[in-house]
Amino acid sequence: MPTKTTMPGKCQACAHDLVLLETGALSWCPACRWNLDVYDPALAPWRGTKLIGRWGFRRGLELDRAMHEDLLAGPEARPAGTSSGEVWLLAVSVALALLGVAAVGYLVWLVVASELPLGVRLALAIPAVLVLLLVKPSFGRVPKYGVLTEREAPQLHRLVREVAEMAGTPVPDVICADLSLNAGVARLGWRQRSVLVIGIPLWVMLPRPARVSLLAHELGHLANGDPLRVRRTLLARTFGSRAVTATGGRNPWRRAIRATDSLAEQGGGAVVLLGMIVHGIVALANVAGATAQLLVDSVAMPDSRRAEYRADLVARRVAGSVPFLRSSETVLLAGRIWQDLWHLAPRIDGEQMEAMATEARQRLSVHLPLARQLSRRTTDLWSTHPGEDQRMRLIEALPDVDGALSVDDTRWAALDAELAPWRRTAHNALLGTRDRF
Ligand SMILES: [Zn+2]
Ligand SMILES: [Zn+2]
Repeated sequence: MPTKTTMPGKCQACAHDLVLLETGALSWCPACRWNLDVYDPALAPWRGTKLIGRWGFRRGLELDRAMHEDLLAGPEARPAGTSSGEVWLLAVSVALALLGVAAVGYLVWLVVASELPLGVRLALAIPAVLVLLLVKPSFGRVPKYGVLTEREAPQLHRLVREVAEMAGTPVPDVICADLSLNAGVARLGWRQRSVLVIGIPLWVMLPRPARVSLLAHELGHLANGDPLRVRRTLLARTFGSRAVTATGGRNPWRRAIRATDSLAEQGGGAVVLLGMIVHGIVALANVAGATAQLLVDSVAMPDSRRAEYRADLVARRVAGSVPFLRSSETVLLAGRIWQDLWHLAPRIDGEQMEAMATEARQRLSVHLPLARQLSRRTTDLWSTHPGEDQRMRLIEALPDVDGALSVDDTRWAALDAELAPWRRTAHNALLGTRDRF
């Protein structure tokens, strides 16, 4: 998270000092928001080319605007069955599956019925094998480490069940803890079980009522028709990333040039030419995979974005407006709070983490206004979540409500006791990362 700012001049509209982040490229006015909603290639997510990045950024802003109007007009409206995004992803999934079936049929024909010489058959089999690698579903794995069973954490399971009941969502099949500054739900394993992952560092930083808000948002995803989280759309959601991984990951052209360079150092013309062609094809496949996935996703993204806002509305209903806003603020400051705890780690133990995090959160709240504005520049159409500012604005525009679920201090204390080993683990992680520097 960029922190250093400079003041490159005065706002033409309101004469307030402009800000420019050290990492950014374009200044804006924090008072009247002049020039805030612009595509800043230094801050926006990288999408292969600036052209696509800019389009995705603008499209994201448009979507947010349209969705706010929609949701403010009818915040209680329920999603109407299957979304068009889901239908689209389903169609792409079916097409990919058919492609896979055709490739298998072709391979069988090559082996059984074809009269061609073996060498020719092998060469002809290569494209079909590549197609199969591309469409082979990857289900992901339910983590083995960090699973919190009902026996180990009865209070947490009880809380999750209550939140699910109030949110009107299914209870997740598995609850997991990890050491991320995050939380999420995913469908994993060949049975695509629903897994709720709670990042303990974030959990420790959150004020207690805001934890309910976090849980309600995540569980909201299990019921609100997010096309990116439905079992049936798995093939369409993952083929692009598989193509990118299979061809070496990010920055394909840089890799191709480097590989060709090292070939040129070693040997003569024909090898270099062949190497250029092979690496060029790999890089092209990489970019084609990434672009195809962005295009497929961009059709599904409006529904996914709507699902995020709906999950926020669930959080508001279950936990209340203020706890929702506190959880957003904590997410905005999480990186800085973690940094603070890192400095404090040698002088405290795991049990003091929560109190120290609370203190840090309050001290660091001066950074909130800018961090909030900045979240608008660092999200686009394909970001998993809208910017925190957009999310907070929606809830702030709706009437303030108290949450439907309240948890008393005795229960929170019992819940904290269950997670004590995890606070120690998080504390050890802080100490561990110190050693490396
Ligand atoms: Zn201004
Ligand atoms: Zn979400």
